[in-house]
Amino acid sequence: MSDPDFHDVVIAGGGMAGASLARALAGGGLRVAVIEPYPPGDAGQPGFDDRALALAFGTARILNNLGCWSRLREEVNPITTIHVSEQGHFGFTRLHADDEGVEALGYVVPARALGQALLQEIRGLDGVEWLSPARLRQFDTHRTHVSLSLEHDGETRRIDTALLVGADGGKSIIRERLNIPTRHTAYAQHAVICNIQTRQAHRDVAYERFTDAGPMAMLPMSGHRSALVWSVDDDRLDELLNLGDRDFAATAEQHFGQRLGRFEQAGKRSAYPLEMLRAETSTAPRVVLIGNAAHTLHPIAGQGFNLGIRDVAVLAELLDDAVRQGIDPGDEQLLGRYESWRQRDQQWVARATDSLVRLFNNPLAPIRAARGLGLTALDNLPPAKHLLARGAMGLAGHLPRLAREGHTHD
Ligand SMILES: Cc1cc2nc3c(=O)[nH]c(=O)nc-3n(C[C@H](O)[C@H](O)[C@H](O)COP(=O)(O)OP(=O)(O)OC[C@H]3O[C@@H](n4cnc5c(N)ncnc54)[C@H](O)[C@@H]3O)c2cc1C
Repeated sequence: MSDPDFHDVVIAGGGMAGASLARALAGGGLRVAVIEPYPPGDAGQPGFDDRALALAFGTARILNNLGCWSRLREEVNPITTIHVSEQGHFGFTRLHADDEGVEALGYVVPARALGQALLQEIRGLDGVEWLSPARLRQFDTHRTHVSLSLEHDGETRRIDTALLVGADGGKSIIRERLNIPTRHTAYAQHAVICNIQTRQAHRDVAYERFTDAGPMAMLPMSGHRSALVWSVDDDRLDELLNLGDRDFAATAEQHFGQRLGRFEQAGKRSAYPLEMLRAETSTAPRVVLIGNAAHTLHPIAGQGFNLGIRDVAVLAELLDDAVRQGIDPGDEQLLGRYESWRQRDQQWVARATDSLVRLFNNPLAPIRAARGLGLTALDNLPPAKHLLARGAMGLAGHLPRLAREGHTHD
């Protein structure tokens, strides 16, 4: 009989990255456990909160191949156009789904709904044990396995695994205990998020607007609502959070401009500190980091989870192949392949996001003028726009099977 305290793969963290990986591995012949401090559906689960996520076309394809997309139908709003502009300048650029031959460049989904869909999918599937409330406290790596010490339902429990996956978010204790060096930038900014009811319909357009009070994204949601993600300097945060709903709506409208008409109503506001963090390596013996544990991004381009789910799709593919070939899931070469497959995408997206933050935070007049010209030039350059669109859609580079069309996953 198999040892109940041994798992082929243990995923520490059941947020979006960890839950997606558990779904991708379910039924594939591996014994998988997920360790998560918050029980399913707990309103305190920080990963599945009120934020609206812009999911790239490629991410939607992965979620569809994982069987989750149909559960989200009622909640998703397509993005057919992305409109980028700067307050006080004429230059702007637009990306259109039609130009890329797709029905949508991406979709907007509330994080809470995505969390529920993932957890419903996992429930009842073979091979995944969901341990919660449970928290990873310690681990020791040995030649053949990793020994973990958890706090599970108030008790200390020990389990062993061939592969430990760190999906425990930006403050990953796995990354810290392994002393993996990171590149870290604190932007001294917070993202203020809130849903806004606008006078005019959004017509499925996602707006990215660079303003003198920080970049604003307006993501199209159901009805005449858009989700505002406004990245503001820390010294303006209290002022914006302390405004009444009406005054906040008026202030946001004043910076955004009139493309959506009046901002009629503002919903509940939340704020998130913004930083960039990138682990210099995603792997260590019998350990791999995925999602925010490996890379935490500024939300300016809405790429955080879109990048994380590509980690998931690649790791799931390598583990799937390992099962078929009878290879140890913690095999050193497998982890080496993961690292080299994911490095380029992670590096590129992290650098592009960071450059965007710096470019649009720069108040110097020549840079501002160049930005306006750059947006106009880009709008008139179809090949460059196409490249940008493919990247934003999550379709650039060597795609894993789960990100390809029509690859269903049992
Ligand atoms: C304002 C804002 C807007 C965003 N918009 C977008 C967007 O439009 N598009 C997009 O793609 N991305 C977006 N993102 C990024 C996206 O939200 C994150 O990339 C994503 O949530 C990361 O998921 P994760 O599972 O890697 O990490 P997390 O969500 O941080 O999950 C980590 C999990 O690990 C658990 N955990 C922590 N410690 C332990 C432990 N010791 N043991 C076990 N479990 C532990 C936690 O409880 C949590 O459930 C946005 C982020 C912000 C802040």
